[in-house]
Amino acid sequence: MSNSSGSPRAGLLPYGRQSVDEDDVQAVARVLRSDWLTTGPMVEEFERAFAAFTGTAHAVAVSNGTAALHAAMAALGIGPGDEVIVPAITFVATANAVVYQGGTPVFADIDPGTLLIDPEAVRRLITPRTRAIAAVDYAGQPCDYAALRAIAREHNLALVADACHALGGADHGHPVGTLADLSTFSLHPVKPIATGEGGMIVTDRADLAARLRVFRNHGITTDHRQREKQGAFFYEMTELGYNYRLSDIHCALGLSQLRKLPAWVRRRQEIAASYDRAFASQPAIQPLVTRSGVSHGYHLYVVRLAPHLDRAAIFQALRAESIGTNVHYLPVYLHPFYREKLGLSAGLCPQAEAAYARILTLPLFPTMTDTDVQDVIAAVVRVTSR
Ligand SMILES: *Cc1c(COP(=O)(O)O)cnc(C)c1O
Repeated sequence: MSNSSGSPRAGLLPYGRQSVDEDDVQAVARVLRSDWLTTGPMVEEFERAFAAFTGTAHAVAVSNGTAALHAAMAALGIGPGDEVIVPAITFVATANAVVYQGGTPVFADIDPGTLLIDPEAVRRLITPRTRAIAAVDYAGQPCDYAALRAIAREHNLALVADACHALGGADHGHPVGTLADLSTFSLHPVKPIATGEGGMIVTDRADLAARLRVFRNHGITTDHRQREKQGAFFYEMTELGYNYRLSDIHCALGLSQLRKLPAWVRRRQEIAASYDRAFASQPAIQPLVTRSGVSHGYHLYVVRLAPHLDRAAIFQALRAESIGTNVHYLPVYLHPFYREKLGLSAGLCPQAEAAYARILTLPLFPTMTDTDVQDVIAAVVRVTSR
């Protein structure tokens, strides 16, 4: 129970956590003293800043990353009978969003080095019912969108990026957000920036942005602030939507957080580089592969443990050393809901299942100190060489 400098760690180091400073607190306090707690000027301001940051024409704020995915599927018109190809390894929300719309998620295997959706696996799953591909920038690394865009174009499919891990990343200089028709983000505390709960969808397509705005507001075509400006009371609901709005309180926090994101991504990359260097000489610990030309957002730092190591025992041993780790993720189709609903079982995506058995997510967040990083490295080396 000692760290790299020989003294015991005080308290569990989590695998991820938010960074909130006095600027953030002040930004939220200003909104609380203002006239608009929701659907006010901060929503527009945050959306404009987010669109500018990602280099996109439109950003639409919603209540969480899951709502962002649901809204994306709705805007694309996904419905009963439609298939959407998703990676086997992702958070359940990517697939759930398809099911919310009555569509069917079809699980594609992943590349064993990056754990990103394998474009060749996607190609093999296309049927006359396929409508879209929802790729996931696992751990913060953009997928091979050049290959995915080519497949989408060839088969007339929509391409969605579940970029919940990857805000601030890029591929060959193109920011995450510009790599697909629609890109979705989560603003949950462990994600790149935090609003508590929150989400965002970005797109260059004005038609999709307009559909997203109606969908997040019950299917009503104007919002309260627009009517207030026009001095009007009449409104119409043209389709079934949801209340997926994000409040001005959340948006003020998001705007304040977004200013700090570039420095946070640099710090995440620096910590990841320290891990990479330390584990290069440890055959039992294999970091994931980074694609060339990618600027990795490093939401997560994931290693693959050598097959002789018992992952559950390593997880517990690290906890005993006050190092919090996690596993991202069980292949989605192995959850009881999907096994039962779609009649799926083990063997469907062999690469995903093999990867799942060995992966472990180590602590990574911008306010980790160099001592924290050295503590993680020392503990991981110690417990894997016992
Ligand atoms: C976090 C996450 C989501 C869901 O975001 P919430 O804000 O928690 O609803 C969806 N997809 C991926 C890949 C995520 O990591």
